[in-house]
Amino acid sequence: MTTDRIMVTGGAGYIGSHVVRQLGEAGHEVIVLDNLSTGFRDAVLHGQLIEGDSGDLPHVEMLLKEHRIDAVMHFAAHIVVPESVSDPLKYYRNNTGNTRNLLEACTRAGVRRVIFSSTAAVYGVPANKECAENSPLEPINPYGRSKLMSEWMLQDLAAASELRYGILRYFNVAGADPGGRIGQSTPLATHLIKVACEAATGRRDHIDVFGTDYATPDGTCIRDYIHVDDLARAHLLALERLRNGGDSFIANCGYGHGYSVREVLDMVQQVSGTTLDIRAAPRRAGDPPALIAKAERIRALLGWKPQHNNLEFIVATALAWERQRHAQ
Ligand code: UDP
Repeated sequence: MTTDRIMVTGGAGYIGSHVVRQLGEAGHEVIVLDNLSTGFRDAVLHGQLIEGDSGDLPHVEMLLKEHRIDAVMHFAAHIVVPESVSDPLKYYRNNTGNTRNLLEACTRAGVRRVIFSSTAAVYGVPANKECAENSPLEPINPYGRSKLMSEWMLQDLAAASELRYGILRYFNVAGADPGGRIGQSTPLATHLIKVACEAATGRRDHIDVFGTDYATPDGTCIRDYIHVDDLARAHLLALERLRNGGDSFIANCGYGHGYSVREVLDMVQQVSGTTLDIRAAPRRAGDPPALIAKAERIRALLGWKPQHNNLEFIVATALAWERQRHAQ
């Protein structure tokens, strides 16, 4: 098996740590670069953790050279949409500015493969519920714009150099390591499945449903929830594609079908055996009624086959993680 020396920025975070685990299991050498602002030291199950900022150009350049890094996976970012609206410069600094510096460090160190965490937020409010990779890119908040600008930088740099990239646009990532070793620990989480599992384990007294009057079958928003381990596997396949000389690409990461907020909450109640205090609340600003990935490209390009395309399993692993954290 061919292995690589990989730098993973944000590898102590939720998605990054799941990728690091799989990279380690596949025998790759992993250097995690994380400033631990939202990540956790004990989430890094493989490789070496180096505390630092992905935007610290001299430091990153030195690390890339010293560890003779073959490829960079760039997860480090801020991801809270409402915060990006109230503090946009934080997002343009941490997401866009840091990506710029990281790419310059890659250029100086001769790193020619970059895998970048992007988001369905680059599509904004789609005209129809399904987004293909060539759908209009009209992000409606600074978070989405900060990510789209990073995509553009990668494309411009690839056009001007030998660098090749894989851009993965995540839909709604949820669930946890089926082995129970890592999961989502972010404090003040806002994501539906995480929040619902917190409610099911008594950490919240109720859960709000943001909008019950959408033009969807049950009036609540529909999203394409993808298990974090399936998403992580897509990153390893992306790495393999670039290693084998494959062209740069952009691919949606989702299952291609969705669930409503009510369906998700029903599943959380069923799996947890609890009755949640579910309250109808006003719509949340900027929520598209439905957001589902056109998900053919990732299968065709990478040979990706989801293993956990099952809402019950997603919820069960998220809940198991939440219970374990609660018990600690
Ligand atoms: N949502 C909700 N209550 C919550 C959190 C989320 O009703 O406490 C809804 C939200 O309005 C959206 C869907 O759940 O329709 C998914 O939201 P989430 O924040 O998980 O992800 P997003 O799609 O915004 O990235």
